[in-house]
Amino acid sequence: MLALAAGAALASAQSGDTPKPPTPVTSFDAAAIDKTADPCADFYQYACGNWNKNNPIPGDQTRWMRSFSLLNERNRYLLWQELDAAARAPQSPLQKQYGDYYAACMDTATLDKKGAAPIKPAWALIDGLKNTRQLSALMSELENDGTPDGFFEFGVSQDDKDSSQQIAQLYQGGLSLPDRDYYLVDNARFKEIRAKYVAHIARMLALAGIAPEQAGKDAAAVLEIETALAKASMSRTELRDPSNRYHIYTTAELTKLAPNFDWALYFQSIGMGHFDSLNVGTPEFFRALNGLLASEPLPAWKSYLRWQALNGEAKLLSKPFFDENFAFFSATLSGQKEPQPRWKMCTSMTDGALGEAVGQDWVKQNFPPEAKDNMDKLVTALEKSLGDDIRTLPWMTEETKKAAEEKLSMIRRKIGYPENWRDYSSVKVDRADLLGNTHHASVYERNYGYAKLGKPVDEKEWGMTPPTVNAYYDPSMNDINFPAGILQPPFFDFKVDPAVNFGAIGVVIGHEMTHGFDDQGSQYDGKGNLREWQTEADRKAFNERTQCEVDEYSGFVAATATSDAPVQKLNGRLTLGENTADNGGLRIAYMALLDTLAAEGKSLDDKIGGYTEAQRYFLGFAQVWCQNQLEPAARQSALVDPHAPGKWRVNGSVQNFDGFGKAFGCKVGQPMMPTKSCRVW
Ligand SMILES: [Zn+2]
Repeated sequence: MLALAAGAALASAQSGDTPKPPTPVTSFDAAAIDKTADPCADFYQYACGNWNKNNPIPGDQTRWMRSFSLLNERNRYLLWQELDAAARAPQSPLQKQYGDYYAACMDTATLDKKGAAPIKPAWALIDGLKNTRQLSALMSELENDGTPDGFFEFGVSQDDKDSSQQIAQLYQGGLSLPDRDYYLVDNARFKEIRAKYVAHIARMLALAGIAPEQAGKDAAAVLEIETALAKASMSRTELRDPSNRYHIYTTAELTKLAPNFDWALYFQSIGMGHFDSLNVGTPEFFRALNGLLASEPLPAWKSYLRWQALNGEAKLLSKPFFDENFAFFSATLSGQKEPQPRWKMCTSMTDGALGEAVGQDWVKQNFPPEAKDNMDKLVTALEKSLGDDIRTLPWMTEETKKAAEEKLSMIRRKIGYPENWRDYSSVKVDRADLLGNTHHASVYERNYGYAKLGKPVDEKEWGMTPPTVNAYYDPSMNDINFPAGILQPPFFDFKVDPAVNFGAIGVVIGHEMTHGFDDQGSQYDGKGNLREWQTEADRKAFNERTQCEVDEYSGFVAATATSDAPVQKLNGRLTLGENTADNGGLRIAYMALLDTLAAEGKSLDDKIGGYTEAQRYFLGFAQVWCQNQLEPAARQSALVDPHAPGKWRVNGSVQNFDGFGKAFGCKVGQPMMPTKSCRVW
C-alpha cells in the first residue's frame, strides 16, 4: 500500500485535558506566505515561511503540518464527540460497542489498580517454556489470545504474480526500535540510543516485578537477540523491490529452510486452513533465525518474549508503564515533550480497532453525497490528463505507451467510505478491560485476514478507515483510495477557485495514480500482477529517469550535523516512489487545471487576490506541505519514512517542472528552475 503520507503513530497519552474544538483550516492562506523570500530561490520558504514561523510544534507532537495535522485534529475531535456521546448514552448496539471500547481506554483508575497484572497470564505461559522446540506452540498460544510476541510477521494477502489468489505470506519482524539502523549504525547518537534502550527495557521489566539485577541481564539479552535479527533483516530500500521479497516455498521447503521452528504445528495451532505453499518474503531472515534458535540459550528467549509482550502492551497498562514507555519511545527517540491528552489516544485507538463501526456514523455527519460526486469528477479529469501525459511522453515507445494507457484504464477508484461495512459484532468489549478489548480486536483482525486464504479477492475492501487524513494506491488491486477524512479543506474545497483545489486535492489524486507507474507500481500490470509490460529499451529509459530523481533527492538534507551525529540526507531510493508520485501528480493536475480553465473560458494569467491562477495552483500545492518537525523526529523519518519532508516534497517537485518557473517568472539557472531537471512521467 503506497500512502500519501506516513501514518501518525498511535500517540502516547496520560493527561485528561478537556477537548477543545480545533481551529478551522482554510484552503488558501495568504498570511502563510513569506513575502521576503524569493519564490525562485526557495519556493517552500516563500509559500510556507510565515506559517512555519507562527505555528510552533505543540508539546504533544513531533511534527506539525498545516494540512495533515490540523485536519487530523479536526477529524479526531469530531470523532471524539461521537465516541464520548456513545460512551455516555449509546443509541444502538453498534454505539454501545464502540462507546464501551472508548470508555475502557479512558478509565485510567481501573488500569492503575491493575498494575502489571494484565500481562501476568502471558508471562506465566512464557515461564513454562522448556526448550526452543516448544516455541511454535507457545507463540500460537500467545497469538490466539492477542498477545504480541515478536519474531516475524505472518498473514494472508494477494499473490504478487497472481493477484486473484490470496496466499500465506511470511516476513521478517521482531525489532522494537524503529529501524535496523538503530541496532547497527555506529555513531555516538545511535550508541547512546542503544544504551538508553537497554536501560529502558530493564526499568520496564523491573516495574513488572523482575529483580533489578536480573532485569539488567534480561535487557542485555533482548538487545543481543534483536541485534542479531536486525543484521539478518533486509533494509527498507531492498524491500522496495517486489522481486526481492517474492520467494514461493512449499511448506516442506520452509521446514528445510528453518527446521528449528515447528511450522506445521504453528500454522495448525493458529487456525490457518491447509496450504501447500507460501511466499517467504525474506528467506535470509528465517535462515538466520533458525541458527539463532540453536545458539541462544533458553533464558534469553524467555526474556525476549517477556519483553515483546510487555512492550507491545505498555500503553495499555498503569501510569508507571505508560510514563516509562513515553520517556523512551516518544521523548528520547523523537523528542516529544509531553504525551498526547488521553482522549486523543483513546479516540485513535477506537478508530484503529473498530474503524468501520465508528466510521459509519462519522460519514453520515461529515461527508455529504455531493462531495463524493465532485471528487468523482475530479478523478475523471485527472485520469484524462495522465492519459494525455502518457501519449505525449518524450521518452517512451508507442508500444509501451499503449500498455501504459491500458493499465491506466484499469485503475479503479474508491471514494469516501466502504460500500459494505465490516461486522464487528463478534468482538467482545468490556468497559473494565482495556487489554482484553485490545486483544479481542486484534484476534478478530488477524482471523479476518487468515480467513481470506484461498478465497476470492474482495475488491470493495478498504485499507484505511473513513476519518483517516490520507490516501493510497494498492498495486495488487490497481486501485486508488480516498477516505472521507482527506476530502475536506485544505485538500478539497469547492468554495475556492479551481486552481487552489487542483493544486491540493488534484495533486493528491495525480500522486496516487502515478504510484501505479513508479519504481514499484510500474512493475505490476493492470490486473495487479508482477509482470513486465515495458519493452527492454523503455525499462532502461525508465531506470535512467528514476535514477535522476534518486540522485537529486539524495542530495537533500533532512537534518544538519550535530555534535553526536553526521548530517542526515534523504535516502533517494527509499523515497523514490513517493517522489515520482509527487512529480507526476504536480504535472498532471496542472494539465487538468488547464483543461478546466479552457472549458470555462478562463486563462492561467487571470488574477485573484494578487496572484495568477498558475501561481495560486503552485501555492495551493505547497501549502499542503507547510510543516515544522523536531530534529530527532526528522532524523527518524529520514530513515523510516518513504516520504520526503514537506520542504523537499515542494522544492523537489517544482524544480523539475518548468510550468512553475514560468508562473513565477524565474530565470533558467535559479534554484527552482535549474538547467538540468528530472522527469519520469
Ligand atoms: Zn504516496
